Amino acid sequence: MKIRSFINLSVFGIKTILFKMKKPILGTIILTDYCNLSCKHCAVNNINKVMYPYNDIVEEMHNLYNTGIRILFFCGGETLTWKDGDKSIRDLIKKAKRIGFLIVNIVTNGTINLDIPEADVIFLSLDGTKENHNLIRSDTFDIILSNVSKANSSNICVYMAVNNINYRDIEPLCKLVKENPNLKSISFNFHTPYEGTEHLSLTKEQQVQAVNSIKSLIKLNYPIFNLYSALDYYLQNKWERPCYQCIVSENKKRFVCGRCVDIEGLCERCGYLFAVEFSLLCKGNIKVIIDMIKTYLKYV
Ligand code: SF4
Ligand code: SF4
Repeated sequence: MKIRSFINLSVFGIKTILFKMKKPILGTIILTDYCNLSCKHCAVNNINKVMYPYNDIVEEMHNLYNTGIRILFFCGGETLTWKDGDKSIRDLIKKAKRIGFLIVNIVTNGTINLDIPEADVIFLSLDGTKENHNLIRSDTFDIILSNVSKANSSNICVYMAVNNINYRDIEPLCKLVKENPNLKSISFNFHTPYEGTEHLSLTKEQQVQAVNSIKSLIKLNYPIFNLYSALDYYLQNKWERPCYQCIVSENKKRFVCGRCVDIEGLCERCGYLFAVEFSLLCKGNIKVIIDMIKTYLKYV
C-alpha cells in the first residue's frame, strides 16, 4: 500500500473512532448480475442479467468519491463479463484511480483472463480443493488455475466461502496458495444462509474447527488476509451490524453494509468477515486495529 493511502485511511479511521462517525469509506459497485456460473451458495446471479452502462458507473464512482469513499470494489455477477462497447473492467479501474480512489479491487470467479495489473487486489473465488470446489462451482478448478498461471501481476487473493461441504479444505487451500507464485494471499468468509442455501450452513462445532484452523495457519505465517483478532468475535457473534462504513451500489440504489441488509434475520447469521472486521475496526478495537495495519501493509 502506498504511504499516501495509508496516511489517508489512518486519518479516516482515527476520526471515525474519536467522533463515532458513520461515514462510509468502502464502496462496492455492482457492474452486472450476469454470471457464467451458477454456484450452489449463490443468491445474486442472473436475476436481471443487465450490464450497467459505463457512463452510469462512472457517475456513481464520482458520487461515491464525493461522499468520502476511498476504497472501491467492483463486483458482479461475474465482474469480468462486464463490458460496454469498447470499455472493459480495466478502463473502469483506470478511471477510478484517476478520480482519486486509493485502493481499487475486483471480485471474480476466475474463469476469465486474470491479467489485470491495474487492480490493487483481485479477489478470486476458490471454494476448496478441486473436488469440493467443482462440486460447489461446477467444473472450473483447472480453468481457474490455468488463468492464474497466465497472470503477470502479483495481486491475486484467493477468496474462499467456507461452508459445511468444504470447511476441511482450509489447510490444503492455504498450502496451495503458499506454493503458487502467482497467488499472493487467501481470505475467508463463512457461509451466510440466504434463502434456499440454509443447508450449507456450518454447525457451531464446524465453525469452531474452521476458525481454529485459520488461526493456527495465521500463526504459522500462511498468507491469510483476515484479521486474527476478529475471528473470535465472529464465533461469538459479538459485533455490531450493519457496518455503516461500507456501501454497496447497484444501478444507483445504495445499501448500507451489503445488498443483504434488507433480508429479514440474515444479518444475525452473517458470515462475511470483512463486515465483522470493518465493524470492529470502526468501533476502535485496538487488537483489530493493530492486526489490520499489519495485514493491509503486507497484502494490499
Ligand atoms: S461466480 Fe459468484 S456471482 Fe456467479 S454464481 Fe458463483 S457466487 Fe454467484
Ligand atoms: S451484516 Fe452486512 S454483510 Fe452481513 S448480512 Fe448484514 S448487510 Fe450483509
